[in-house]
Amino acid sequence: MQRSVDLVVAGAGPGGLYAAVQALKRGLKVHVFDKKTVVGVPVKCGEYFPVRKEMEYLLPSAGDYMHVFDVPQDAVDNFCKTIRVISPKGREFEFDFEAYVLDRTRLEQDVAKKVVDLGGTIELGTPVDLFNNDGELVVGKNKAEGVRAKVVIAADGFPSKVAKSAGILTEDYLTPNNIAINYEYLMGDLGVDQSVTEMYFGMEFAPGGYGWIIPKGSGTANVGIGIRTSFSERNDGKGYLDYFLRECDLTKHKLEGGKPGPMIADVLPVDGPLKSTYSDHVMAVGDAAAMVMPTNGGGISTAMITGEIAGQIAADHVQKGVPLSEYERRWKQVMGKEMYVSTKLRRLADRFMKNDLLFHLMLRMLGTRGIKDVITCRPPRGLSPII
Ligand SMILES: Cc1cc2nc3c(=O)[nH]c(=O)nc-3n(C[C@H](O)[C@H](O)[C@H](O)COP(=O)(O)OP(=O)(O)OC[C@H]3O[C@@H](n4cnc5c(N)ncnc54)[C@H](O)[C@@H]3O)c2cc1C
Repeated sequence: MQRSVDLVVAGAGPGGLYAAVQALKRGLKVHVFDKKTVVGVPVKCGEYFPVRKEMEYLLPSAGDYMHVFDVPQDAVDNFCKTIRVISPKGREFEFDFEAYVLDRTRLEQDVAKKVVDLGGTIELGTPVDLFNNDGELVVGKNKAEGVRAKVVIAADGFPSKVAKSAGILTEDYLTPNNIAINYEYLMGDLGVDQSVTEMYFGMEFAPGGYGWIIPKGSGTANVGIGIRTSFSERNDGKGYLDYFLRECDLTKHKLEGGKPGPMIADVLPVDGPLKSTYSDHVMAVGDAAAMVMPTNGGGISTAMITGEIAGQIAADHVQKGVPLSEYERRWKQVMGKEMYVSTKLRRLADRFMKNDLLFHLMLRMLGTRGIKDVITCRPPRGLSPII
């Protein structure tokens, strides 16, 4: 016989786990599924996570959720003080911006433990989908073995199977221009400055995206590239990443002697949140709702925040009949403006990105201040009227 709970969360990443904690604290019976066999493994992420004061600047209306940035220090591998942006022609722009480089496995396992301590259940090694069983919601590998739920949170990353089955993720979002494919090595034996995170732009190694060196402490760094196939001549992420490591004039000396671990790859939505992020009884959070800041690719913090909001609304829905539209209203209040601006800016930048010289000139024109604005989801001075 099928089990029955109040809330099923599909996906035990930051979005799903933070949602589960909030719903459990409000008294819901919660079951979490993940297709991974170990929470937080493997990590497919640069693990860059701005400190609280930077997020207070980036998302000034997210006050109620700022506690998510107070991560335990044992889940922090490194601390960066600045961001350096490097244009395709090698011009450097550097500004103060403090961030942790996380141990995501540790962080997610800590939160998963909290879920279990609060009475939630986590079922691993189980890829799930959403089924409608005569008007009842069922989540599981199949309809017969699934778990019945009053409300469901799709937190299964991008592209979300559950959000698709609920009609929240629609085909029109799934275009090559809206999706970055990211490739990354965790590298060791590097001599890079451990206090600076670098973002490199150039069509030779990161068409439609950027390359990054995110120092992770003790001579290690997450080194990766994001590309969009609408910008690239070939669909060869490993080729682009290896070029970034070994042949690119901007990086090859810096990364010389570095030892790459196994390559990881994953897709990321970069055209702003889905048009609608909920249906009658399902909410999508984090990547499942495309909650990634398009001008920087950050999605950990927005997954945590949307997860928390959805967990709270799930409880209000089950206990007081609050409609799930309240979820969308609330996340828009907290980060809607920044997501909108960041999406518009990324679309604007697309016009220059195919041409390295033009993009270099655009960065020079923006200057350090303007570049910081774009990365922190604000319209640079003078651009407000067209954003
Ligand atoms: C290479 C790379 C580098 C990145 N670097 C950064 C960075 O430095 N900083 C930053 O803020 N963001 C970064 N991001 C983005 C960030 O990783 C995501 O935005 C963030 O993980 C979103 O969290 P989430 O919980 O929504 O989804 P996820 O972390 O993707 O979690 C989804 C979970 O759902 C599970 N799942 C998927 N499908 C199913 C299914 N059918 N059934 C059951 N479980 C399922 C998955 O196993 C996974 O555990 C990066 C992304 C990539 C790919």
